[in-house]
Amino acid sequence: MRFFPIFVDTKGKTVVVSGAGHAAEAKLRLLLKTDAKIFVYGNRPTNAIRLWAQEGRLVLQERAVQWDDVSDASLVYGANDNLELDQQAVALGKWAGALTNIVDNLEESEFLTPAIVDRDPVTVAIGTEGTAPVLARKIKVMNEEFLSVSVGKLAKIAGGLRHRVAHLSGVARRKLWSQYYSSDTEAAFEQGGEDQVADRFDDLVFGVSNQKPAAGKVIFVGAGPGDPDLMTLKARKHLDNADVVLHDRLVSPEILELARREALIIETGKKGFGPSFAQDEINRLMVKYAREGHKVVRLKGGDPAVFGRLAEEIDALDEAQISFEVVPGITAASAGAAAAGVSLTKRGRNESIRIVTGHDLKGFNELDWQALAQPNAAAAIYMGVKASSFIAGRLLMHGANPLTPITVVASASRKEQKITTTTLAKLPTVIGEEVKSPAILLFGLARSQANLNAATATHEQLAGAL
Ligand code: SAH
Repeated sequence: MRFFPIFVDTKGKTVVVSGAGHAAEAKLRLLLKTDAKIFVYGNRPTNAIRLWAQEGRLVLQERAVQWDDVSDASLVYGANDNLELDQQAVALGKWAGALTNIVDNLEESEFLTPAIVDRDPVTVAIGTEGTAPVLARKIKVMNEEFLSVSVGKLAKIAGGLRHRVAHLSGVARRKLWSQYYSSDTEAAFEQGGEDQVADRFDDLVFGVSNQKPAAGKVIFVGAGPGDPDLMTLKARKHLDNADVVLHDRLVSPEILELARREALIIETGKKGFGPSFAQDEINRLMVKYAREGHKVVRLKGGDPAVFGRLAEEIDALDEAQISFEVVPGITAASAGAAAAGVSLTKRGRNESIRIVTGHDLKGFNELDWQALAQPNAAAAIYMGVKASSFIAGRLLMHGANPLTPITVVASASRKEQKITTTTLAKLPTVIGEEVKSPAILLFGLARSQANLNAATATHEQLAGAL
């Protein structure tokens, strides 16, 4: 973001526009909405500018701008449609310490004027840093349709009513305002103006004051493998409404961006072996915020029910008698298989697939090696990067085919995604050299012909693979 959007106070400030043609007129249409004192310098003014001058809405001088015209200017616009004149005006402005803009000239401007949806005091400013004016226009039209004409009035009236709800809790207040900005209040305004809005407001205050405080709740939400497009609509909706978000380290920053600005966001990340944030502490926070009446989203990478300590957290909520809901997400096995373009199951090859983990909190995991070593066995191995040598050693010891294909998908669905196809025999080397966590090991599944070859490999080939 090169140009940072801010709202500038124009009250009592001087704005100078150099130029009085059509480019200047277009800018002035916006500037006249402000509280600034506006001075326009230029020959052959358009009729509209002349009229505005007659009405006293701006001061017009039919000559070029001079240095003493800009001495107390806050903003200076070069709007002559003539680069040389614009540069002169802007040079004067800079000399006087004003911020300067040349119309339609991003490179020589210190600020840009955004497209605006005006529901004063509610203003939507839209900027594309000059790259996509047509898109800006479209966004403006969408907003014009979405924001009713009276929304600004409602915001203004709300300013005067704010003190009447100081006694309400944060949760109740949010609920109240959310009910206030609705078509019913707009209708009240259309019918009876400000008085009717104030009546409706009092009804709403009465309503929320007499409601039992909403019971808090925890929603376990699967964030999927990282790409926000791979979240469910329900997950997005809950994230949109959450008061508190407790998230794992695996949840990508793009997904956290989707949470409400006001939400309290806490990372509870666990790294490597053992927790960096004790499970008890996570449980305690969930219970605490839910008891305070908040909507708590417990956001977990992938699917909450797959190696996500969901069971422990549900136990903690049951014990505290707090209600919960689980929103599933796309688990790493599915995301990895999709990225690699392989099927997790295949008729005649592997009719089942195991979901296993390479290590647990205590260290490397002993799996059912015997079963995994059978021809055509398949498994999605989570947390297998550190344990890869151990896993490969155990499987070979139990007679697994060293040519068994393994597809390793690191950072599935993220920018850094990397897919490596290897064999059981080479797994530890490949992992050591090429793979960064998080990665899912799709054991027995190949992207290519390799799995077919492995199934029919001769003893000589096997020896070669080792
Ligand atoms: N609940 C998660 C799993 C948490 S365990 C899920 O359903 O996906 C953490 C392990 O998940 C990591 O060690 C890695 O094996 C796997 N994993 C999570 N996100 C991943 C991703 N984007 N790409 C590859 N593997 C991932």
